[in-house]
Amino acid sequence: MRTAVYPGSFDPVTNGHLDIIERSAKLVDKLIVAVLNNKSKSPLFTVEERVRHLQIATQDFKNVEIMSFSGLLVDFASKVNSNIIIRGLRGVTDFSYEFQMALTNRSLNSDIETLFVSADTQYLFFSSSQVKEIAHFGGNIDNIVPPVVREEIKKKMKDI
Ligand code: ADP
Repeated sequence: MRTAVYPGSFDPVTNGHLDIIERSAKLVDKLIVAVLNNKSKSPLFTVEERVRHLQIATQDFKNVEIMSFSGLLVDFASKVNSNIIIRGLRGVTDFSYEFQMALTNRSLNSDIETLFVSADTQYLFFSSSQVKEIAHFGGNIDNIVPPVVREEIKKKMKDI
């Protein structure tokens, strides 16, 4: 069975992430979306909230599973019997960072390959950080995030 891992912060998940998930899920038997539990970053949503948002937003994709992880990505991939890491590319600005990460991960485990998937052009211009900034100033994020994030980000913004 071919399993791929799509790791990220997903703080919050955007329609760009969902486009990458939909495209990648067609290429493999099972896609594990792996939410990074990174204690050094201070995320808007907890890892449990981010996992739940992804579960709701991907419920129609039958071969997609959401998990969280901490530590080295290559160790997580080995643990779930995957040798494919999926990363999304928005353009040249993502490239140098992503390329460096891919080579670092290969140096840690040469059996694991990183595959880059590009989202549809309509999704290329936004990021989770922009979503948070737009929401913070009361802007409209309806076309950028799934409904569950739309609702919950409003509540979060009231609390902070
Ligand atoms: P990270 O902190 O690991 O970069 P993100 O949640 O920001 O986590 O992104 C996870 C992956 O999704 C990265 O490979 C990133 O390049 C990709 N990505 C983020 N937003 C988009 C988008 N709008 N279109 C395509 N790929 C995206």
